[in-house]
Amino acid sequence: MSQSTILVIEDERTLGELLVYNLKKEGYEVQHATDGQDGLRRAQTWLPDLVILDLMLPVIEGLEVCRQLKAGSRTRNIPILILTARSEEVDEVVGFQMGADDYVTKPFKIKALLQRVRVLLRRKSPPENPNDSLSSHGIDIDRNQHRVHVDEQEVHLTPTEFRLLWTLVRQPGRAFSRTNLMESAMGDDTYVLERTVDVHVKSLRQKLGRHGTRIETVRGVGYRFHDGPPPDGPAR
Ligand code: CA
Repeated sequence: MSQSTILVIEDERTLGELLVYNLKKEGYEVQHATDGQDGLRRAQTWLPDLVILDLMLPVIEGLEVCRQLKAGSRTRNIPILILTARSEEVDEVVGFQMGADDYVTKPFKIKALLQRVRVLLRRKSPPENPNDSLSSHGIDIDRNQHRVHVDEQEVHLTPTEFRLLWTLVRQPGRAFSRTNLMESAMGDDTYVLERTVDVHVKSLRQKLGRHGTRIETVRGVGYRFHDGPPPDGPAR
């Protein structure tokens, strides 16, 4: 999986540097802007996976940066995590109206912030693969040809199983609720019981053979796909 990119827009030097240091330590690629104008420009040209945005900024204030990012067709899907001081509580509400995705109140624990960052990056759905094919440790899915190969052997899936597998593999590690899966894999116009998802997953696991356990049950939520080799060794 490629390294996620994060733009930090924060004018308080110490805090900005602390954020950059900790995010880099987590393995993210980070850029730091110290005013709203520079931040906006970097976001528009670099198109990071996430923007961490302070509200009180010189030149262009945070909320205006947020508004412009959410208005731009290339930047509107970038999640924004707002940093706000306690005195700016009113602005938190405004921030959400402006389309911010989450906020953290200053002072905050760096661990808590990193947790929010992980959640936001996970939530962001990757763009559709232009080749319409996915590949993960021995599972190859071709959506144009509607074919699936497991350890280089073709496996025949029903249309629902196929869409289910595609949905899970496309966002490995993401926990999908049964409702999510029904919507993405079966079309939200179809009325199905949540148990129906379990039946499809069971059948799909069987067809995937030794890769079946890579569709993990997330207790109380639904399912997630494990992006790694099957338990009994690497892909053959
Ligand atoms: Ca500030």
